[in-house]
Amino acid sequence: VNTGGKPDISREKSAELYEKAKNYFPGGVNSPVRAFKSVYGTPLFIQKGDGCYVWDADGNQFIDFCASWGPLILGHNNAKVREKVTEVMQNGMSFGAPTALENELAELIIKNNKFVEKIRFTSSGTEAVMSAIRLARGYTGRDKIIKFEGCYHGHSDSLLVKAGSGLVTFGETSSAGVPKSFAQETIVIPLNDTEALTKAFEQFKDEVAAVIIEGIPANNGLLMQDPEYIQFLQNICKEHKALLIFDEVITGFRLGFEGAAGHYGVKPDIVTYGKIIGGGLPVGMYGASAEIMSHISPDGGVYQAGTLSGNPVAMAAGIAQLTELLRSGFYKDLNNKASEFAESIQRFATARNYKLKVFYVGSIFWLAFTDKGKIQTAEDIDPASMEKFKIMHRELLNRGIYLGPSGYEVGFISAAHTKIELEKAKRAIFDSLDVVFR
Ligand code: PLP
Repeated sequence: VNTGGKPDISREKSAELYEKAKNYFPGGVNSPVRAFKSVYGTPLFIQKGDGCYVWDADGNQFIDFCASWGPLILGHNNAKVREKVTEVMQNGMSFGAPTALENELAELIIKNNKFVEKIRFTSSGTEAVMSAIRLARGYTGRDKIIKFEGCYHGHSDSLLVKAGSGLVTFGETSSAGVPKSFAQETIVIPLNDTEALTKAFEQFKDEVAAVIIEGIPANNGLLMQDPEYIQFLQNICKEHKALLIFDEVITGFRLGFEGAAGHYGVKPDIVTYGKIIGGGLPVGMYGASAEIMSHISPDGGVYQAGTLSGNPVAMAAGIAQLTELLRSGFYKDLNNKASEFAESIQRFATARNYKLKVFYVGSIFWLAFTDKGKIQTAEDIDPASMEKFKIMHRELLNRGIYLGPSGYEVGFISAAHTKIELEKAKRAIFDSLDVVFR
């Protein structure tokens, strides 16, 4: 399809690798969004990353705003992270026994983040959230959880549930293979809706173990919630003795060292992290007060374990990365850069009357093809607007800019994006928008 923009970059080698990959993996990928189903062309096979750049198998170079979906807040192949990982690897890669590195990363986190007193490392965000849910159920002795339409919490059974019809419903499974009986324990309601939350608690009085929300929902567009709503959420959880879980797998250490909890000044009962704490290696984590965490085995009756949990190489990457984030002014500089970037794209679009809103918080941004001033629920997003994203995505690739291959995904700015690259990227975005709205 010719969208009238720049000629397409060569994807010959990527296409060849993709054909091969299809023999090995369903859809040719190991995680569905990578298959480029919502955008033009075959997926790009990435060969190398450095700073804010990635190179694909055909040698095309891109300024990367996907950042491995968030972990790379210092950019690709950061020297400090690489050196620490290389050093630690000399001593072996996994022991299945405690190491001092776990203490070191835990200390960095707990000393600088008032929202967790004790933590447990896992190997992915999915595991962290799944375990947090089990902990909430074990702690409260209740089974039901409330989640929000438009929030993603990984792919564990209880959380692959979407809203059914009606205001307050049991969820419906959003994946084949999830038993209906599991979905029955998950209540799904719209974001930013105090009435739905109140009704859910009325209907399932004394049955709700926890309410789980993404600190700032960033998996279905960027759905900024009002601080009053988050406060309401905390109050109603307290009132009903349900736990409040903040899933900060994206927002943790991204908005600031204390994530969305710090941003709102609200203390969740359990927090989950991932992505950034692993510096690009597989790590997840959940944490809470010492009292709540005492329910985790071997201290308590809630079982949770992992062969590679606290893996030394992953811990090393986390230690090196978080140490950088604690340098004074780190977040201020990063967030200033990001807001300047987002606002100048917004100014450009507004001046040309393009139906585009740039939503952003910290160094997370989302380009939404809408004229709505606020988008706070999944329902506010017009699926038809994704056609425009599709054209923009292609134009951006052709101009050397890599965004995640879906219009529902947010972009990430890293410390490695300098003013020069952000200027280049802006110009490419302006030109691409001119094609989209031609
Ligand atoms: N929770 C949130 C908010 C996420 O964004 C993700 C992944 O994108 C997860 C959980 C699952 O993490 P992982 O992909 O590491 O299993």
